[in-house]
Amino acid sequence: MRKRTAILALALSLILGNSVYVPAAEDTGETAAQETAGTEETQAEQTEEAAVSSDTVLLNAQIMYAQYNYDAAIQYLKSQPDFDVNKDYMDLAAKCQVAKGSLVEYPLEQVTHVFFHTLIKDTSKAFDGDSDEAGYNQMMTTIDEFNRIIQILYDKGYVLVSPHDMATVNEDGTMSRGKILLPEGKTPFVLSQDDVSYYHYMDGDGFASRLVLDENGQVKAEYIEDDGTVSVGNYDMVPILDEFISQHPDFSYRGRKGVLAMTGYNGVLGYRTDIAYKTGENLQDNQREFLESHPDFDYEAEVAEATKVAEAMKATGWEFASHTWGHMNATDRSAEDLQTDNEKWEAYVAPILGKTDMIIFAFGADIGGWEGYSMDNPKFAYYKSRGYNYYCNVDSSQYFVQITDEYFRQGRRNLDGYRMYYNPDLLSDLFDVSEVWDSTRPTPVPEM
Ligand SMILES: [Zn+2]
Repeated sequence: MRKRTAILALALSLILGNSVYVPAAEDTGETAAQETAGTEETQAEQTEEAAVSSDTVLLNAQIMYAQYNYDAAIQYLKSQPDFDVNKDYMDLAAKCQVAKGSLVEYPLEQVTHVFFHTLIKDTSKAFDGDSDEAGYNQMMTTIDEFNRIIQILYDKGYVLVSPHDMATVNEDGTMSRGKILLPEGKTPFVLSQDDVSYYHYMDGDGFASRLVLDENGQVKAEYIEDDGTVSVGNYDMVPILDEFISQHPDFSYRGRKGVLAMTGYNGVLGYRTDIAYKTGENLQDNQREFLESHPDFDYEAEVAEATKVAEAMKATGWEFASHTWGHMNATDRSAEDLQTDNEKWEAYVAPILGKTDMIIFAFGADIGGWEGYSMDNPKFAYYKSRGYNYYCNVDSSQYFVQITDEYFRQGRRNLDGYRMYYNPDLLSDLFDVSEVWDSTRPTPVPEM
C-alpha cells in the first residue's frame, strides 16, 4: 500500500513537473469569469472538475504504462470508482495487460552503472587555467557532453533502474536478488552523481551553486552570474534529467532517476548544513570566509530549505547514498575512523536527506577485494550493523555486480574527461566518444 501511494505521488509530481496540465489555473479563470455562481454554473463546474480528474488519472496511468509499470497502472485504473463505465480507462488497462506479456527478466549481472560529478555549466570558467582546471578536466563532465550522452543512451534503449531493483532487503536483514522486467531490446543501467555539495572551492568556476525549488515546486539549479545576479535553470544533472524524463518517461523504470552520493563536510546540495557552520568550530578557511561574507546566515533556515529540496527529489525518483561525511578513503582508513565519520553522516546529513542503506565509496576506495566482503572484515561488519546493504566502488569493467545474502555490490564507471580521453574503447558499448566530446576541453587531459 505504501508503495502504491508513492507511485501515485510520483506520477502526480511528474505531471506537475511536466506542466502538461495545470487544472487549478484554468478552473480559477473560468470561475472568475462567471461572477454569478448559480446552480447551473455550479453543476457545469462540477462536470468540468470530473473531466479534469479523469484526464489526470489517465495521464498518471499513461506515465506508469510508459515506465513499464503495468501492474501498478492496472491497479490504479481499477481503483477508480468509474472504471467500469470509462472506456479510456478500460482500454489502457487492456493495453497494460498485453504489454505485460512481452516483458522479459533482465540478467542482473549485466547491469552497468555509470557516474558523473557536478556538471560544468560554463567551460570558460572551469577551464580557465587556474589550479583547479586539471581536476575538472579529468573528473568532470560538461553539460553539453551529458546531454549528448543521455540522448544516445536513450536512443539505444537504455532505461534507468536503481540498485534497489537489483536486490531487496528481507525483514531479517538478509538480501535477495531483485527482478527487472523490461521489454526485449531495452537495457537497464544505474546512474549516480557524486559530491553534489557545490563545495566552496568550486565557487566562480562555472558550476551551479545549489539546487532549489522553483515556483512550481520543481527542482532546479541556481547559477551565480558574473554580475552577482542569480539565474535558475537546468544547470546540473538533477533538473536536466528531470526534464529529459518528463519528455521521455520511458527512459525511467517505474519512476527511477539516479542516486546522489553525498558527503557532509560542506553541507549538502549547496546548503551549508554541516554543524560546523552553526558552532563555528573546526572551520576550514573557505568555510570561515563563507560565514564572514554571509553575516545574515541562518543555520536552521538552511537546513529547512535543504530538507525541502531533498524531499522533492525523493518524491520524484531520486535516491541518496552516503559518500562518507568527510570524503574518506575507506581502503586506507581504519574501521574506527570510518565509524567516527559515519556517525557524523548520521547526525548531520541523514536528518536532511533521510537514512540510506547505500554507500558509494569516495575515490572508489572499497573496503574489500573483488572476492567479496565477510563479517570478519571489521569495516563491513560496522557498515552492515548501521544498515548499509548496497555498496559501490569504481571499476572500469562493463559489469561488476555481486549479490549475496548479505550485501549488494556494484562497480561504477566514470564518464569523465579522463576516461573519455584515455580509454574511449572502454566506453564503446555506451557511446562513441567522438560524438560526445566537448571541444572546449583543453587537451591533452592531464594524466593522473
Ligand atoms: Zn567523491
